[in-house]
Amino acid sequence: MSYAEVIVDISHENVDRPFTYGIPQHLQGQIALGSKVEIPFGKSNRMITGYVVGFTEHIDFDESRVKDISALCEKSVSPEEKLIGIASFIKEKYGSTMITALKTVLPVKKATKAQEKKSVIALKDESELYKASLIAKSKNQRAKVRLLQALCESPRIDYSLVTGKLNVSAQTVLSLQKQGILQIETERSYRNPISFRGGEATKVSLSKAQQEIVDAVEKDYEAGNPGKYLIHGITGSGKTEVYMELIAKRIEQGQQAIFLIPEISLTYQNVVRFYRRFGDKVSIMHSRLSAGERFDQFERARKGEVSIMIGPRSALFTPFSNLGIIIIDEEHEGTYKSETMPKYHAREVAEEMAGRAGAALVLGSATPSLESYQKAKSGEYVLFTLKERLTGCTLANVNLVDLREELKAGNKSIFSRRLKELMEDRLEKGEQMMLFLNRRGYSGFVSCRDCGEVIKCPHCDVSLSEHNRGEKLVCHYCGYEQPAVKKCPSCGSNKVAGFKAGTQQIEEALHKQFPMAVVLRMDADTTKHKDDYESILSKFANREADILLGTQMIVKGHDFPGVTLMGILAADLSLSNNDFRAAERTFQLLTQAAGRAGRGELPGEVVIQTYQPEHYAIVRASGQDYEGFYEEELAYREFLLYPPAANMMAVQLSGPDKKALERLGQRLATEVKAMEFDSIPAQIGPAKANLSKKSDLYRQVIYYKHKDYEELVRIKDRMEECVRLWEIKRESVQFDFNPMNTF
Ligand code: ADP
Ligand code: ZN
Ligand code: ZN
Repeated sequence: MSYAEVIVDISHENVDRPFTYGIPQHLQGQIALGSKVEIPFGKSNRMITGYVVGFTEHIDFDESRVKDISALCEKSVSPEEKLIGIASFIKEKYGSTMITALKTVLPVKKATKAQEKKSVIALKDESELYKASLIAKSKNQRAKVRLLQALCESPRIDYSLVTGKLNVSAQTVLSLQKQGILQIETERSYRNPISFRGGEATKVSLSKAQQEIVDAVEKDYEAGNPGKYLIHGITGSGKTEVYMELIAKRIEQGQQAIFLIPEISLTYQNVVRFYRRFGDKVSIMHSRLSAGERFDQFERARKGEVSIMIGPRSALFTPFSNLGIIIIDEEHEGTYKSETMPKYHAREVAEEMAGRAGAALVLGSATPSLESYQKAKSGEYVLFTLKERLTGCTLANVNLVDLREELKAGNKSIFSRRLKELMEDRLEKGEQMMLFLNRRGYSGFVSCRDCGEVIKCPHCDVSLSEHNRGEKLVCHYCGYEQPAVKKCPSCGSNKVAGFKAGTQQIEEALHKQFPMAVVLRMDADTTKHKDDYESILSKFANREADILLGTQMIVKGHDFPGVTLMGILAADLSLSNNDFRAAERTFQLLTQAAGRAGRGELPGEVVIQTYQPEHYAIVRASGQDYEGFYEEELAYREFLLYPPAANMMAVQLSGPDKKALERLGQRLATEVKAMEFDSIPAQIGPAKANLSKKSDLYRQVIYYKHKDYEELVRIKDRMEECVRLWEIKRESVQFDFNPMNTF
């Protein structure tokens, strides 16, 4: 190993290629893959840090020009080396620079300084401290006296108290330190993001079906062959109890566990169950933590102070030394896929990590993704099914309402006759209900009733949405705002109005229709502040309201035993999305929403209002028929070569000049046509993206579909090479493998 490939912490395409550095004699044998090193950089040779990502024997330039590594920063620990391996996996599989991949997996940036806990500690006994205080008194050194007297009472005092409450200057403390009377001790304090208020774990004995899962997983460990498992079980079927038992087993063996859960399900309710069972072995990660707090959590994990990390996607990269299990709850959730580069899927990366670490991978969902279910069917994953709710309550009764029939019958209201009837009944009985609308904001677009002109964002190719009861128009993509439009910019007509189908508008309709009902609304607008979300949920749980009205947010993972009615106002809104996953997403949402009613002792009713009651996603969801949905959906994906039947890559181009961007798309596509394939990939585009302009940048997209993922990776590699060779600077080219959303 003569030379090290070092990457530096600068995010730019041009530094993607590692720099080659010599390894000086005194560092030979000490530098390993993943080592953090100090290197002289650039013409000025300023010292910066970098990471060793490879080694090489050969260099193709003058040896004398190679600089040496200056120093090894800190003894590199193996979890980081493993993470660098994962970074290179991510770079290869999803297409990004090594730097970006590294930044994804390593907590490289300590944006905030680690919090330090300083204390002042007495080195002398009480009588000597007293003597010293008398001397100080005689010299009229009042601050010294205060500190010495305080130390007589307690030999260890928080430094912040000394400089704060006691009003003793740092200089005074130092001078006493010099005299050997006291010392300052510095200890890194790790902030635990959740303060736990105690409580007992409720001990359950697992049901037969639950125990079978635990036994099967354990048996594979004993055979030295931890596997991959999918637990298909409706909400309330006891998945979480299984997860906790599996984690407990690993911890008994001195191993650690990562438990991924969508951010939105990361509620106090959920987390407390883990704290009760595992105490402060548990740590939590979530997006509201500051960079420093995240870093602290990773440090605690690295030092072995915690053994369980719970959190969304990014918790996957917890640097545990002996990882035993990765569990992904609600594995079908779209949020497990990163929307920024590298566009990795946590499920796929977890699978790779589990394989490398010799850990088990456990996925769980009430509505598994087609990807995972297919793997379970083919035997790649072991499939377990939990069929019964353990709390004893039965599934809700589902009413499917055809909105076209409502219109025919002269009902123009947002609430169908059946829903209204059930709502009145619940209000009378004092039972709670939830109303779900798959849409955000006060209303959709604003348009001219005379000429049809739609008011659009000047920077993006999307319509603006009305907010604040129609006072302003907002772009949901770039945040652009303007006051409401009174006159049509195209024909001058004053009949400009919003298409009303938002949560705010429904709230108003509710107040008119049921003036006595107390309504809570939960959507992006009412949950802007840190604690809004929890506060709305706890108000509803405390029965301070009759109706909880909201978007997606209300259907995910909260238990309200008082809810006996769930109204889904417009089931097909998510179907109109031109996205191959639209049916799957609709099915999942409806199934989840339906699972919300009747969680307590009282039986529940669900009303699904739709314009397409014959659509298979809606039919299957109202019958709670996952298997049937899976068969139909997979047949559709196979017919059109969509994932998981085939692999798909979106090449996402964006740039400031429309013509130049189109030319780049054509050039790239032509390059791919010239490549040799055993079987030619299907190509769609280049074409205008679904969102064809965003924040003044034009967007184009090319899709490639192929059975073999590696063939898509080859296309990506070729394109990346072109971008470098052609010195493309103004346009950006990104890759999204098996995308979750249209571009
Ligand atoms: P899921 O994660 O599938 O939604 P949970 O594990 O949260 O299911 O279980 C739902 C409810 O049933 C919880 O209140 C839980 O305490 C309870 N429960 C789970 N397993 C058992 C069991 N074996 N015996 C009794 N109650 C159980
Ligand atoms: Zn007009
Ligand atoms: Zn915009």
